[in-house]
Parts: sequence; C-alpha cells; structure tokens
Amino acid sequence: MKIDDWLLEILACPACKAPLRAEAATEELVCTDCGLIYPVRDDIPVLLVDEARKP
Ligand SMILES: [Zn+2]
Repeated sequence: MKIDDWLLEILACPACKAPLRAEAATEELVCTDCGLIYPVRDDIPVLLVDEARKP
C-alpha cells in the first residue's frame, strides 16, 4: 500500500472527522476514534461510510 504520510495526515474519517491510521497488514485505513475500517483500492482510499467495515 502506498499511502503517503502527508496524505494520511490530511485524511479524516467522514463519520467522525478523527484521524486515520494505515493498517499495512490488511491495506486498509482505520479510524482512530470510531474504528470504522475503510478500504484502499488501487492505492486510493475509499473514504465513504457506506463502504466502510464495522470493527
Ligand atoms: Zn471515525
């Protein structure tokens, strides 16, 4: 997964606006607050609540 640090810093959870952290093992982005898990497709984070998994 190629999510740049600067990109990760400006990304926020669309549900609660908290920062996200990259989960390298599963190539997903995890919200640090509500815990929703967002997929990354073709190196593009899909920050849609409808697409997110519940923890
Ligand atoms: Zn959240």
